[in-house]
Amino acid sequence: MGRHQTLTPDERAVRKGRRRVLEVLVVGLLAAASLVLGVVSQEAPTPDGPGGGATAAPAPDPVAVDPAAFPAGGCVRLAPSGPGPAATVALDAGHGGPDPGSEGTTADGDVRREKDLTLAVTRAAAERLRARGTTVVLTRSTDALGTPLARGAVQDGALTTDASQLDLLGRVRCANVARADALVSVHFNSFADAEVGGTETLYEPERTFARQNRALAQSLQGAIRARLTAGGHTPLDRGIADDSSGAESGGGHLVLLGPRIPGYIDQPSAMPGALVEPLFLTNPDDLAAIAGPGGTDALGEAVATGVGDYLDGAQRR
Ligand SMILES: [Zn+2]
Repeated sequence: MGRHQTLTPDERAVRKGRRRVLEVLVVGLLAAASLVLGVVSQEAPTPDGPGGGATAAPAPDPVAVDPAAFPAGGCVRLAPSGPGPAATVALDAGHGGPDPGSEGTTADGDVRREKDLTLAVTRAAAERLRARGTTVVLTRSTDALGTPLARGAVQDGALTTDASQLDLLGRVRCANVARADALVSVHFNSFADAEVGGTETLYEPERTFARQNRALAQSLQGAIRARLTAGGHTPLDRGIADDSSGAESGGGHLVLLGPRIPGYIDQPSAMPGALVEPLFLTNPDDLAAIAGPGGTDALGEAVATGVGDYLDGAQRR
């Protein structure tokens, strides 16, 4: 229906050329610095405030789920930081490393890339889920992809189609190995027409756990829209949609959510899942909501709320 991007992420990446290696290094350094600063600020309780050390627990050391199968920083488990019903949620930050995804340019001329925003959102969501007793698995916890790349996987500054498929299958394997109860993938949308915007969540409608897929998607869509609205930006409600309808699927099922398709998805995801596209990076109002102060944190909060509400509902069923 032409409502998604006209350029695939790969096409965009090809056009962007080879400056990416340096960009990745810089982003990696910034991410490492912010991680260190985050840990320091969380570990330093206010010396004389009454609620001193009772705020956020220190960030835990990520534990590799299967160090033999994933590179450092890929597929890591974070323990709960607070009490609550036991559950494991896999959070998948879309794109990464040599695959930047889509991008948008703010009114100030800053370029924001999908891969950086998805990582920030999953990290923020992870902290909130941990606080409610949930074990969190991150398919990637750094800029780098969570799946080892074969020689030749990056050509002309972009992932090849085959490498991209292996990367997606690696994300599924991570969620499966970790025995996650739910899988949530975070992406952002883009389109040639800057006026196109809004919030959409994709789910698979026919698998044996389709009812849970739909419930999870509905919960995420509602929580994201509510949080964005509370923050002063009400995006268009594009609703929840069949996973074969989005740009990320290339017209077929999403690798992350789809059923077994021999030769394409040999080992499908084994748990309910959804892929969120909270905003369009190419829409100025949408981009301002995510690029502004607290934007990724607010979306992380929304994702955690959406998953949390779904888990609470699942326990009552
Ligand atoms: Zn994407």
